[in-house]
Amino acid sequence: MTDERVNLLGLTRPELEAWCVERGGKPFRARQLMHWMYKRGATQFDEMTDLAKAFRAQLASEAEIRLPEIVTRQDAADGTIKWELKADAGQAFEMVYIPEEDRGTLCISSQVGCALDCSFCSTAQQGFNRNLTTAEIVGQVWLANRELGWQVGDNRIITNIVFMGMGEPLANFRNVIPAIRIFLDDFGFDISRRRVTLSTSGLVPQIYKLAEEVNCALAVSLHAPNDALRSQLVPINRKHPIAELLEACWHYLDEQNGRSVTFEYVMLDGVNDQRAHAIELARLLHGKPAKLNLIPFNPFPGTHYRRSPQAVIDNFRDELMQKGLIATIRRTRGDDIDAACGQLAGQVTDRTTVRLGSKTFGLQVRV
Ligand code: SAH
Repeated sequence: MTDERVNLLGLTRPELEAWCVERGGKPFRARQLMHWMYKRGATQFDEMTDLAKAFRAQLASEAEIRLPEIVTRQDAADGTIKWELKADAGQAFEMVYIPEEDRGTLCISSQVGCALDCSFCSTAQQGFNRNLTTAEIVGQVWLANRELGWQVGDNRIITNIVFMGMGEPLANFRNVIPAIRIFLDDFGFDISRRRVTLSTSGLVPQIYKLAEEVNCALAVSLHAPNDALRSQLVPINRKHPIAELLEACWHYLDEQNGRSVTFEYVMLDGVNDQRAHAIELARLLHGKPAKLNLIPFNPFPGTHYRRSPQAVIDNFRDELMQKGLIATIRRTRGDDIDAACGQLAGQVTDRTTVRLGSKTFGLQVRV
């Protein structure tokens, strides 16, 4: 029976309205349901006391509010929390809460594994397993709220959501877009559009599609100032080179009335962290609506990369700033529990790995 019931978590407001109308209800029932699910944290229809008893009974027989299961929780010394969530038997994905003085950021996953094969990322090493459903994406924010204590409005604990966990969100467009709609909806998590950030390795056609669909902040994993180097680090660059990617970014801002795109740049010792790279990067982005976010590399077992020394990272930032760019260094959080950028690697038992972003961009299956 469970399998036949509709999971209401993950339906956007129009979808939920249509669902209620199909069952003879008024569209405003959808808003009531969303209020209970996303503001009150309800999972049982019995709790929803302002709904008629008959409607509650109908809901209970046809629908459910189903969340992913938390497998483990780890608390880091700095207050960062990482949860491992169950996808299917033997498969897991992760989310991370990062408290700061003026905000609380939840870093969520969009896929189990990733097919993009960026050479410095531990998620890439496990290959791609599957897309998360909208309910599993929205369920992360729901569960983190429950774990941290439901608070709404000005007291909310999660103020920012970033798609910087496992997976390439634009490769799971179909499920990520409705999730973003629910994050932004007044009757959903009601987060402002500048506080929901989608980070992409650079799937250019999907950036154009995104511009038509939702309004949120965009971050792009650049990591190199030229195509030769970027193609080594981020293989999707062979298909969509930097010039094309930047074009898509500026288009996105135009369409969305956005202020700037954040470019992420992982600092790899001796690879992309030299003064010449900073100069080239400054030339590339000078005068553009761009912010640079330098991420000290986070090592993981089996990697041959090393983190750039702090002095090198500081000099790199100073060089960019002198050339008129806005550049910040991302503070590494939760590294004692492997919760830092690029360290998320849920367990995948499926032995077939699929990788995108190869030279041909054909699907390569490695067994
Ligand atoms: N697929 C999305 C989200 C990935 S994670 C994307 O590529 O943007 C968010 C950021 O962490 C990306 O910029 C990613 O390149 C970076 N990252 C990946 N591995 C890392 C590592 N080992 N150390 C530091 N940053 C890393």
